[in-house]
Amino acid sequence: MPTSQLQEIRREMAEAARAAGRAQAVLLAVSKTQPASAVAALAAQGQRAFGENYVQEAMAKAAELEGLGLEWHLIGHLQSNKADIAARLFDWVQTVDRPKLVEPLARHRPDGRPPLNVLIQVNIDDEASKHGCAPEQVPALAEAVAAQPRLALRGLMAIPAPFPEASRRREAFRRMRALFDTLATRYPQADTLSMGMSADFAQAIAEGATMVRVGTALFGSRPPH
Ligand SMILES: *Cc1c(COP(=O)(O)O)cnc(C)c1O
Repeated sequence: MPTSQLQEIRREMAEAARAAGRAQAVLLAVSKTQPASAVAALAAQGQRAFGENYVQEAMAKAAELEGLGLEWHLIGHLQSNKADIAARLFDWVQTVDRPKLVEPLARHRPDGRPPLNVLIQVNIDDEASKHGCAPEQVPALAEAVAAQPRLALRGLMAIPAPFPEASRRREAFRRMRALFDTLATRYPQADTLSMGMSADFAQAIAEGATMVRVGTALFGSRPPH
């Protein structure tokens, strides 16, 4: 049987972790713009965690694939007026970047479900075009999330700037790891640092990512949205 893309990515992830002497990272398959059939195909190969950028699109896919036991992560910007849907639909929201989202997410998390897993999104390269809080805002936001019993503070997420120089990208990963280590000292339940995508997941793992978000390298290029 030929090696699947999923097996190949997993092999590269394991290799990067081994080379850096780090623990294995979790693979989040980024399925935005991909049809439910493509998600089902990966699920059949054992992939459980999927990332979506748009609440509406995720709703449709999750409904179609209900019963497969998949874990859904929101990795796109969350508008306040969609916090109620997000709190019901997702297992993880990786894009909490302002205090205003915290209370609505907690209030709308259904009682019958485990607490909603939350990552704080950090705008690590201070890009005007990107969402995410400033590194200095992490402690206050973490405190607000940790104070909510219906939310579980799990760590940090970032989308570093796509600098052409690999050294500059690695430096952003390193700053994220330092922020994460500080957070985890205060909140031992924070066990997840989500960074690295198709082009740079191996470098992210080398710098301490515990979760990488991979789309095109798994599914092929995305159809236009
Ligand atoms: C689309 C996306 C990814 C995956 O990007 P690829 O380059 O296709 O692997 C990861 N994270 C976020 C936040 C995204 O929007």
